[in-house]
Formats: sequence, structure tokens, C-alpha cells
Amino acid sequence: MLQPIIRPEGVRAHVGIIGGSGLYDPGIVEKPVEVKVDTPYGSPSDYIIVGDVRGVKVAFLPRHGRGHRIPPHMINYRANIWALKALGVKWVVSVSAVGSLRWDYKPGDFVVPDQFIDMTKNRRFYTFYDGPATVHVSMADPFCEDLRSKILEVGSKLGYTIHPRGTYICIEGPRFSTRAESRVWKDVFKADIIGMTLVPEVNLACEAQLCYATIAMVTDYDVWAERPVTAEEVARVMAENVAKARNLLYELIPLLEGEPDPGRCSCCKALEYAIV
Ligand SMILES: [Zn+2]
Repeated sequence: MLQPIIRPEGVRAHVGIIGGSGLYDPGIVEKPVEVKVDTPYGSPSDYIIVGDVRGVKVAFLPRHGRGHRIPPHMINYRANIWALKALGVKWVVSVSAVGSLRWDYKPGDFVVPDQFIDMTKNRRFYTFYDGPATVHVSMADPFCEDLRSKILEVGSKLGYTIHPRGTYICIEGPRFSTRAESRVWKDVFKADIIGMTLVPEVNLACEAQLCYATIAMVTDYDVWAERPVTAEEVARVMAENVAKARNLLYELIPLLEGEPDPGRCSCCKALEYAIV
């Protein structure tokens, strides 16, 4: 493994949080230190904030950078995942804002997707293995089942509407879908939620053998619904979602204190049968 440069040296973390639109600062990290990580793939989206959450070392990285500087297609996904891995992270909780492709996944609801469809195009790097080492990881079940169930347990305990399954269709962006596209994603592809950032974050996390799951926060119905929303509405739902996500993370992180249990998921063995 090529060695990254971590400043200050020796900083370690156990849980990684990748914050999406609206979540640029976890707000729950005590004694935060800004850590600069340089990886063989370049720089991650921002400094990584490392500190304690209820006695667990957490590394927080805003996916778009603070101030939302980096659009989805320009994010250095490889550097982001590599940097978290380099800090010693075992669990990665990714938080993202999504549109809904079904009436019963309402604005303000949370979804913990169990599948994805990749409709991104050619601007992203999808693997750490560009040769000579060649790797084909299994994506049959792309998310950590153990982490998914922990998120669902905490979300239900908090009384949130949190849907246990969903197919996330990832489009290239930065534009939104046309009405025709949106109807295809919904009616032909049978996807449930739509966003622009899950891929290749999820498959790179798998190659890095991290336990990865996503908390998808529904902000609005996608354009198929023919229900125009105002920017104010979206901003209000997003602000409420971010507050709820912080509460969820605060309750979730103590459950991630231990090492991933190889009996409960296969993330840490993702490369076992994948290297050609
Ligand atoms: Zn796992």
C-alpha cells in the first residue's frame, strides 16, 4: 500500500463519516483536530476533522468540501476513501441528500439503500486497481449489512421514518434528470431514490475493505412527480434532515466502537476472491 502523508502525524480514527449536501460540519465531534491527508491519488475534498464522539475516534470529511466547492463529478472519490483508510477507519457512514422516485418515500424520510444502479459516465475513477493488479469485487450486495441494520435500529429508536431498503440510482450530474429520464429510472429501472455521489464511493470503499453504508435523506420528489418545489421548501427539508442525521450519528457511533465482526458481514474479506 502506497503510504499517504498525514499531518499532524500519528492521528488515527475508527469511524469515518462522509457528509453530503448540507452536512459540512458534524457538530458532534469533541476536541476536533483538522488533519491534512495527502494520498497517492491526490487530496481529499477537504481537511478531515478528527475527534471524539462519545469516546469513539471519528474522522469527518465533507464530500463536497466546506462551502460546497466540489460538484459531484469532480469529487476525488479515491482520495477520500484512501484518506479514511489511511487514518485506520473501519466503518464508513456516508450521508447524502437524495430525490425520491416513489410517493411513499416522502421528503424528510430517510432511506438505507441496499442496492444501486450506476448511470454515471466517464469522468470518475471507479477502482484503485488500474493494473497490473486486477481486481473484480463482488457488488451483489454493495453495502455492509451489519452497518445497515445498526443504522435502521437507531433510526427506528429515534422515531424516524427510515425505509430499510431502496435502490439508489446514481446519475452523473451536475444537471438533474429530464422528465423522460426520471420516468425511466422510476418505471423501467424501478429505482427508489436518485442522487449523484454514491458511485464510485461505495465500490471504492468495498475495494478498501471498509464497512460502508449510506443514510439517504429525501429532500424532494424527483421531476417525474410533476410537483414543482420551491428552493425554500428544499432548503427547509434539508436543514431538518441534517439536524436529524446529526442525532442519528450521535446515537449510532457508540454502536461502532468495536471491530467489524466477520460473522456479520463480508466487507473486510472483499478482496479474498477478487484478485485475478
Ligand atoms: Zn461490513
